[in-house]
Amino acid sequence: MTEKEYNGIIIFAEQKNNNIHKVSYELLGKGKLLASKLKCGLYTVVLGSKDIDTDELIYRGADKVYHIEDEVFNKPDELIYSQNLVKIIEEIKPEICLFGATTFGRSLAPRIAAVLETGLTADCTDLQIDEDGKLIQIRPAFSENILAHIKSDNYPQMATVRYKEFDEAERDESRIGEIVKVQSIKLENNLVEIIEEISNEDINLADANVVVAVGASLKSLEDLKMIEELAELLGGKVGASRALVETGIISKAHQVGYSGNRVKPTIYVACGISGAPQHVAGMKDSDTIIAINNDPSAPIINIADYSIIGDMFKIIPELINEIKNKHNVGNNM
Ligand SMILES: Cc1cc2nc3c(=O)[nH]c(=O)nc-3n(C[C@H](O)[C@H](O)[C@H](O)COP(=O)(O)OP(=O)(O)OC[C@H]3O[C@@H](n4cnc5c(N)ncnc54)[C@H](O)[C@@H]3O)c2cc1C
Repeated sequence: MTEKEYNGIIIFAEQKNNNIHKVSYELLGKGKLLASKLKCGLYTVVLGSKDIDTDELIYRGADKVYHIEDEVFNKPDELIYSQNLVKIIEEIKPEICLFGATTFGRSLAPRIAAVLETGLTADCTDLQIDEDGKLIQIRPAFSENILAHIKSDNYPQMATVRYKEFDEAERDESRIGEIVKVQSIKLENNLVEIIEEISNEDINLADANVVVAVGASLKSLEDLKMIEELAELLGGKVGASRALVETGIISKAHQVGYSGNRVKPTIYVACGISGAPQHVAGMKDSDTIIAINNDPSAPIINIADYSIIGDMFKIIPELINEIKNKHNVGNNM
């Protein structure tokens, strides 16, 4: 396979219940910059029902949207998705192929890369084009201590990119593009049967405006209640360090960090969290960081905008009371 055979950038637009995941718009934002450097087309491929708003992908920067229209894609079945995607990628022959590093994207992209016999860099945090027009895939390595720059010899060059790394592409309703309807390959997956879908959507840390996160300092499920109460009063969600997740007190869906969720809230409250680099990797872009810690030398203090030094088991109940008093919560009965 020579380089010349391959042209253009394809972005997989992930959808659930016909709603396009915002990471797809972030990829379109970055994709536009890459495409202008390479002077090539920017395409998206979306799989799902006729109700998907394909125009929105044009408004966000796609020159062409390949819509593989079929109700079968309402189920996130990697085998059926990957076979359809492999077919279209083989037809279009893009030089670059990007996926969001969502749970589904992380599961789907390697299957496609394996069939296409090409490389895949997972969880990229940045993408650039070098002087030879090759994609530089940048991602943290060795527990976030270095940023690896990876290039692939094979085509298409494939990467998954973390959610909330790039700004969303701006919306321009005057943009004109082409919607190409593609026939799906009808397949049956007899290997996997989806029995029940358990949703983590009410946790959805990545989109939370306020996150109250807690670490290994928490010793029991009972103690978690004060964190949940503070999060609720602030209109936020509960996050956790990996050390706490490992105790089993809280589920992995709440984990913030390198191997958990990446968050960018307006306010991040770190309660009894030391601030290990792997945790900080997931929350350092928060607008305002408030640390509650009994150790003034904890690394989290260095990145916090405000620090409260002391025992969180005293401080958090006081904060809760203060907020309730200010807003008369529970006092007007
Ligand atoms: C490959 C890899 C990936 C990782 N990924 C992640 C990740 O995604 N997310 C993540 O969080 N970690 C991750 N880790 C683990 C990370 O290195 C740390 O071990 C972890 O973040 C520590 O969690 P912690 O701060 O809750 O616990 P600790 O480091 O034990 O810190 C507890 C903190 O609580 C404070 N404290 C204790 N009692 C109180 C009290 N009563 N009041 C106030 N403060 C108190 C202490 O002073 C201390 O600062 C990863 C590690 C590796 C090797």
